Amino acid sequence: MRIALVATGGTISSVTLGDGSRSASLQGAELVAASGLPSDIDVRVSDLRPRGSYSFSLSDMSEIVDAVATALLDEVDGVVVTHGTDTLEETAMLADIRLHDARPVVFTGAQRTSDETDADGARNLRDAVTVATSPQARGRGVLIAFGGHVLAARATTKTDTTALDAFRPAVRTDIGMVRDGVFAPTNDSAGRLTPHLPGAGPAARVEIIHAYGGMGRTLLDACRNAGVDGLIVQGTGSGNGNPDVLAALPELRAAGIVTVITSRVPSGPLAARYSRSGGGRDLVDAGAILSTDLRASQARVLLATLLDAGASVREMRAAFAPDAAASSPSTSSRITPPSIIKELS
Ligand code: ASP
Repeated sequence: MRIALVATGGTISSVTLGDGSRSASLQGAELVAASGLPSDIDVRVSDLRPRGSYSFSLSDMSEIVDAVATALLDEVDGVVVTHGTDTLEETAMLADIRLHDARPVVFTGAQRTSDETDADGARNLRDAVTVATSPQARGRGVLIAFGGHVLAARATTKTDTTALDAFRPAVRTDIGMVRDGVFAPTNDSAGRLTPHLPGAGPAARVEIIHAYGGMGRTLLDACRNAGVDGLIVQGTGSGNGNPDVLAALPELRAAGIVTVITSRVPSGPLAARYSRSGGGRDLVDAGAILSTDLRASQARVLLATLLDAGASVREMRAAFAPDAAASSPSTSSRITPPSIIKELS
């Protein structure tokens, strides 16, 4: 079996410095050497400069996805990416959007540095390699192997700052587990849910606003004045706003800004159910797009990519509602596309 390892830094590659702080410094070959991988696995390592993932921009994430795409040009059974946990869900989402290859691409990382007692990185790396070399992991989109769990990258977020199984799906279920070095799928029906959008970038500017009781228009207006391309509103509950958010939507639309509603609640599906007073139904009727599964960090990556690709509003609604037929376009106007997407479902 042959896999490629793209090493990008994060806690899995960090060591503790004299002042007690942690710094990403180990190279991929050092991670492999410490992981106790079976000797019949041939690992081809590509190193990007090791860094904390909290410092990654979208263009850094794009560089990582490019490195994965390059690794897939080789005859490998799968690719493993070691990554800091803080923004792992974002880079994994971008990879899920940009790559289209049945071979497994598996992200992993660690909560504890390699020099801590009970470090979790070596096991996570072994598990990720197990999944990357497993025929049962093929064709399921980009995956995350962490703390024994195997999860679809789509709609998975980091939910705990220290727990060893920090990643949880916001909706749906785990793809499977790795037990005793064997990948055991628990969800055989899980396949790709994300439209394939190859390309560079994304370069579109998308900001995130966290909603709260009594939220006014200050931040929405600031984003409009700043000329952003898109906005993610982390609404309350199943995707609700309030009268001020509702009142701001026509002006955002008039300024060509696409607004996507998600939730500040970490898990559970979203639905546009409530009307009057700026509930989710009102927001969708006023032209906002409901993200039925993605939370803000991943919704931002998807929206930026869709905007770069010149997707229509209908295509965006479909991309944000993979489990159902896209909700009717209601009053939305089309975005003038700089290019036409042919591969969006
Ligand atoms: N806490 C992070 C990690 O687990 C730091 C980072 O994202 O690089 O790797």
